[in-house]
Amino acid sequence: MILIDVHAHLDWKDFESELDDIVKRAENAGVKVIISAGIDSKSNKKVLEIAEKYEIVKAALGLYPPDALARETNSELISEFKSDINSHVDEELKFIETNKDKIIAIGEIGLDFLSKKSDLKLQMETFVKQLKLAKKLDLPVIVHSRKAEADVVNILEKEGMKKVVMHCFCGKKRLIKKAIELGWYFSIPTNVVKSQQFQDMVEMIPLQQILTETDSPFLSPYQGMKNEPAFVSEAVKKIALIKKIEQEELANIIFSNYQRLFL
Ligand SMILES: [Zn+2]
Repeated sequence: MILIDVHAHLDWKDFESELDDIVKRAENAGVKVIISAGIDSKSNKKVLEIAEKYEIVKAALGLYPPDALARETNSELISEFKSDINSHVDEELKFIETNKDKIIAIGEIGLDFLSKKSDLKLQMETFVKQLKLAKKLDLPVIVHSRKAEADVVNILEKEGMKKVVMHCFCGKKRLIKKAIELGWYFSIPTNVVKSQQFQDMVEMIPLQQILTETDSPFLSPYQGMKNEPAFVSEAVKKIALIKKIEQEELANIIFSNYQRLFL
């Protein structure tokens, strides 16, 4: 079976010592492509190195919503961001543009309004800048949204984005419908095996707009275990059950969806 993981973080520190094994296990499971997404300048550089080293790994570069980034990594970074955010963002976008021939998408980008202290305006400006870059380079965007789903959909629509992957989307049914109408893709994470919300979403989305992801090392389908690209087969199994279709046939459709959007 041909499997695709359109969203993983292979540059994550926990993976460093075992990356050879992780990629091998993915290959043995039938994974043909892993898209590894960068989130900041350090991570973007590492993603490029990893994509260079492993044939099945493709790079996506981007700036994750800055405040969420600071919350999830370290506090030093945020002061760097806040002090000179715009020149930092512009510099990184220049780096991404310079490497345009080595990447398959712009991501992970988006909005994250989980933190009450978050600078929403700054996040939106950074998001829009990256959307404009994606249009200029004619690349798909891989979009994160948390507590900001309506804003994300509005901004994407306003910018006229056509090649969109809604990664791990948790918006209301109305927003899902709108995204479907606009022809965007949804990447369904491995934790669809236990999340009713994702199961309901899979019911709604046409087969031609479904992709699969792991978000490794996060969102593991197995309790107490780090997620990794090989586990993407779990998402395919579950989606096939919901859509009442053979796994093999579903996997082929997902692969064509991947080709249509990214190649
Ligand atoms: Zn992610």
